[in-house]
Amino acid sequence: MIAFDRQEALRYLGYRNTEPDTAVADSLARCAAELQAAVQPKSVFAAFPLSHPAENTLEIAGVTIRSENLSRNLKGCEQVYLMAATLGIAADRLIARASAVRMSDAVLYQAAAAAMIETYCDEVNDAIRQEAESAGLYCRPRFSPGYGDFDISHQRDLSRLLDTPRKIGLTVTESCLLAPIKSVTAVIGLSRTPQPCHRRGCEECGKTNCAFRR
Ligand code: SF4
Repeated sequence: MIAFDRQEALRYLGYRNTEPDTAVADSLARCAAELQAAVQPKSVFAAFPLSHPAENTLEIAGVTIRSENLSRNLKGCEQVYLMAATLGIAADRLIARASAVRMSDAVLYQAAAAAMIETYCDEVNDAIRQEAESAGLYCRPRFSPGYGDFDISHQRDLSRLLDTPRKIGLTVTESCLLAPIKSVTAVIGLSRTPQPCHRRGCEECGKTNCAFRR
């Protein structure tokens, strides 16, 4: 069963260092339990060659990406993993159903599902890290289309390269949103030099002067 990080869900709901009242806490626990029973997380990842043809320009498996932020994150890397992960269509259905009958529940489902996809991405990222380390390589923190100047339209390239529609039922809409909604695509740089990154990514990391910070 997928883990539920209650603190993370509360953070999405705007509770920082405060606890919700009993009614909200009980409703959140109920929504999270329903999600846990319904979702079927799936993921796919694979390694691809990376080159740096020009300043702030990257090429991954024939796809050209112009992004200063991603170029900084991948500085010194010659390969990347691409990953995609989804909670599946059941989370969308629970959120849509609640939106029609009780909006307050829809907000709780949204927050709980957002925490669950992040936890699931951390698990997939850990599997990638282990695979990389067995090949003598080290991972940079994952970087998704839409972060900084990494254009969200590259969701399409990541989906195509990983064959996500066939492998995990993940598609990209005309407006570059992922379907199912609670899904993530990301690039993870691989380098030959260790970079002890924070498991939760740069936002949570104390190394504010890090050259690879996103
Ligand atoms: S800021 Fe921290 S998490 Fe981000 S790349 Fe640097 S060491 Fe890794």
